[in-house]
Amino acid sequence: MPPSYPSDAPASEALFARAKTVVPGGVNSPVRAFRSVGGTPRFITSARGAYLIDADGREYVDLIGSWGPMILGHTHPEVLAAVTDAASRGFSYGTPSENEVALAEEIVARVEPVEHVRLVSSGTEATMSALRLARGLTGRSRVVKFAGCYHGHVDALLAAAGSGVATFGLPDSAGVPSSAAAETIVLPYNDIAALEAVFAADGEHIAAVITEAAPGNMGVVPPAPGFTEALRRVTRDHGALLISDEVMTGFRCSRSGWYGLEGPYAAGAPDLFTFGKVMGGGFPAAAFGGPAALMAALAPDGPVYQAGTLSGNPVATAAGLATLQRCTPEVYAHIDAAAHTIADAAAAALSAAGVPHTVQWAGSMFSIFFCEGLVRDYDDAKRTSAPAYAAFFHAMLAQGVHLPPSAYEVWFVSAAHDAAAVDRILAALPAAASAASDAFATIAP
Ligand SMILES: *Cc1c(COP(=O)(O)O)cnc(C)c1O
Repeated sequence: MPPSYPSDAPASEALFARAKTVVPGGVNSPVRAFRSVGGTPRFITSARGAYLIDADGREYVDLIGSWGPMILGHTHPEVLAAVTDAASRGFSYGTPSENEVALAEEIVARVEPVEHVRLVSSGTEATMSALRLARGLTGRSRVVKFAGCYHGHVDALLAAAGSGVATFGLPDSAGVPSSAAAETIVLPYNDIAALEAVFAADGEHIAAVITEAAPGNMGVVPPAPGFTEALRRVTRDHGALLISDEVMTGFRCSRSGWYGLEGPYAAGAPDLFTFGKVMGGGFPAAAFGGPAALMAALAPDGPVYQAGTLSGNPVATAAGLATLQRCTPEVYAHIDAAAHTIADAAAAALSAAGVPHTVQWAGSMFSIFFCEGLVRDYDDAKRTSAPAYAAFFHAMLAQGVHLPPSAYEVWFVSAAHDAAAVDRILAALPAAASAASDAFATIAP
């Protein structure tokens, strides 16, 4: 039997009220505020394995996974030991140290086209820096991105940026100068004709195409067969770079990320890759990388400046290295199996309750759209029913399962999702599906 928690959460409510007096909206990243599902975000006090414990002492099976990083589950004993050991030897040196090298070696060993990597502290920094490098290398200013793809809160990349922005129904962000936005061309995902048209018209000004390797920030929308290949062919033909953003997919979809599943393409590999999330093991570590000849344009060897006080931080790199070293074939097989068990059961429960839904996959990454039919791009994704998801989300929460508080997000499964954790999710699904069904009945005319 799943637990049955009351809909109020007194300790979280008190903390949220306190937070709102000193933090905008009470949160340090907007989606955490529960605005699209309503109610009070749960303030978490500890996490272990597949579980989160909140300030009211309630236990949840976690399907947020810190939005991707916690691939081994929370507080993995060996990662904890590596972190504790690193921290006992100093928090930050501001000098080179060995773990940075070892983490870079691990990434290079996993992703074949990546010969050199530069470490940074967030996925946002990784994409921002990759973009600067692409502009520096090509001497061009424009970039192409796809609607629904999120690449962090980089000014030039916030246009039509998927989950966080979609959750709030904001077309764009205020505070982005039109000069920055003017250099960004936004195209529909999976649309090769639109890509070819833009390059035919404007190719000599385009520095790069940036894409999520397999988008997960508008819900999971995998590239249609041949799409990534077309990105590679068109960019190459016009002297632009292809940047594959693997911040979410990297070291999650396979040991080599999405590239490990789909690459190399006949037209070649992407030029630059960005990584984050899993490679930091829950700490602030991210990276961008590519062939040595391209990465040589970065300072101190080349003219493209990029730096960071905490880049390659010894504690963060220890966590990332210990995490990646434990991302074995067994771990990937386990996550794949657990994800399929959960997704199949969710689809069965939704079908039984008559709720329209579509499950989509990118490797072991999946999300469920609350609408019928294939989702190929952001316009399709926006057909998902946010009210139905909100009802489903809260019914799961009340039964001790914490989904991401956004209808446009991956359900993140970890190596720690064992039979007991998965069973709790399965037991909670029928009631949640029936709550979603009630929500649809209310919305329908
Ligand atoms: C999360 C994410 C980012 C941003 O990473 P942060 O560490 O939050 O700055 C960039 N690209 C993709 C694909 C992501 O999923």
